[in-house]
Amino acid sequence: LVVNLGIQRMTIKELLDLAVSQHLSPIIGQEPASRLDARLILCHLLGISMEKLLAELNSHIDPSLQDPFFQLWEQRISGTPISYITGVKEFFGRDFYVDSRVLIPRPDTEILVETVLNHHGGKPNLSIHDCCTGSGCIAITLALEQPTWNVTSSDISHDAIEVATKNASQHNVTRIRIFLDDLITNLDYAPDIITANPPYLTDNEAGERISAGWKEPEIALKSGTEGLEHIKKLVYQASKLLKPGGFLYIEASSNQAPYVRKLLTDHNFNQVDSVHDLNGFERVTYGHL
Ligand code: GLN
Repeated sequence: LVVNLGIQRMTIKELLDLAVSQHLSPIIGQEPASRLDARLILCHLLGISMEKLLAELNSHIDPSLQDPFFQLWEQRISGTPISYITGVKEFFGRDFYVDSRVLIPRPDTEILVETVLNHHGGKPNLSIHDCCTGSGCIAITLALEQPTWNVTSSDISHDAIEVATKNASQHNVTRIRIFLDDLITNLDYAPDIITANPPYLTDNEAGERISAGWKEPEIALKSGTEGLEHIKKLVYQASKLLKPGGFLYIEASSNQAPYVRKLLTDHNFNQVDSVHDLNGFERVTYGHL
């Protein structure tokens, strides 16, 4: 990207127009860089809200901010997700800190949270463990939505634990215990509910994305030749550990849902069912002992 702006004074609108005129081809499967992204980067850099930015489109921008803006814009058009640049992703109505150490929360995963709340919201003092917690968005959202619940969460990645811990403290959730674990291998109590958005892409799917320049951690995405290694192990572990009557909620891809239902049934889970995501795909499968 060659932009030599010198000391030319530009308005915010001119800067945004110049940015969006410079498109590189997006990474397959990823949203292309948009005008909205350019605005978000500028808000981030200026430390102002979108409302303020839009009200200031005809103001001149401090020329010393032009180069930093275009450095971030170049990251964006070469495939870095906007959330890794701004450090924020909204999930279930709240902002979560994210960086390239964790998967960016997806709107699809809100369905998992919504399903748990539909089934159990208002029941007091439930204990709930979220494994493969990543940014912590599921666990922290549940803790905030249901203040009487005792929430724990784990991840196999030290990096993820750091990010989740940061998010818990940003949301002032002090009563959550976050720790390192391979699925629930070392979980030291029997919860009422276990939730998980584990890695579930096949090695091939994950490999294709990574070699195309996908920026999320491979460890958060890939799970063996069928994408089911983590899910198989978790269903087995949960069937041994959950309280009698305890619930398991797992996110997977829609083509895996029939298999995940069978897996749950084979491990003595009852009333096994799946719920659809916003695009109409079976995304979350659950059952209870
Ligand atoms: N839903 C994610 C995706 O398709 C995959 C996340 C995961 O493996 N848990 O990008």
